Amino acid sequence: MQRFAEQARFPPRAWLGKIMPERFPPSLQQKIEDRLKYYEDLGIRLFYKDRVSNSSEVAAVETNVARTAAAPSIVQEPALPKSNLKPTAAKPATPTPASIVVQATGRSLFETAEKIVDDTLLKIREDLGDCTRCRLHKGRNKLVYGDGNPKAQLVFVGEGPGADEDMQGLPFVGRAGKLLTQMIEAMGLQRRDVYICNVVKCRPPENRTPEPDEVATCSPFLLRQLDAIHPKVIVCLGAVAARTLLNTTRGISQYRGEWLEWRGHKLMATYHPAYLLRNPPAKADVWKDLQKVMAELGLALPRKSKS
Ligand code: URA
Repeated sequence: MQRFAEQARFPPRAWLGKIMPERFPPSLQQKIEDRLKYYEDLGIRLFYKDRVSNSSEVAAVETNVARTAAAPSIVQEPALPKSNLKPTAAKPATPTPASIVVQATGRSLFETAEKIVDDTLLKIREDLGDCTRCRLHKGRNKLVYGDGNPKAQLVFVGEGPGADEDMQGLPFVGRAGKLLTQMIEAMGLQRRDVYICNVVKCRPPENRTPEPDEVATCSPFLLRQLDAIHPKVIVCLGAVAARTLLNTTRGISQYRGEWLEWRGHKLMATYHPAYLLRNPPAKADVWKDLQKVMAELGLALPRKSKS
């Protein structure tokens, strides 16, 4: 199998000039340069041709974002309690061994991507810049990067901004956001204690689900955010976040509430607050999931009420 440019380091221009003299029309050359610059923004420096499969794709940029998700089941149980619990220094619960129940559908960029040494949220935001890498930028009012504690032990990952978030440039500030805030407070935390971000940083038109290519373009920045924060626990809010990080086509209801592992972090997938607004009984499931997260973080669990 022919190597594309095994372990080539570049500034893209110099590199392209050496290996592809006059092979492409200028417009295509420019497109390739822009794309390589984008990969460089993502911290990807090494390119090689896949030596295992017959795929002609460049292995380092493969992504596999599945689209389908089974509808979550609705249960008839009590709603998420309102609580003003304060975080305590309680002994962290013994973690349940992480079980991987999701079936990976292929190698993802996340599996192959290396950590960028000394990466910071600020640097990642700078690399995102006034992003025009996918079509979502066209309808954007404000890019919604993420918000919260850069050293958070707990990160919530949603799908993408809605109308309120797009107006304010902040994640989860609309109706679903208010419910997420209640969930965080029920855990005995404040929003400023955690970090909140999304798979895509710009609002999809009519709040549609982000397309796979939009997710593939934007999610590497999420990966960098998560690597830079290095939280103890990641909570995926909804199927899009879970499918993106776990690279699975399985419906979220099949693995929600179970401890999973993602790049050395404990990951819990649960239902999206917007889904809970439509299906309040599912709050009980989410609350169970969040209590597992609380136990993992050593937060005081609510006392069981005597009946
Ligand atoms: N839904 C999301 O997934 N993210 C937000 O920021 C708001 C609503």
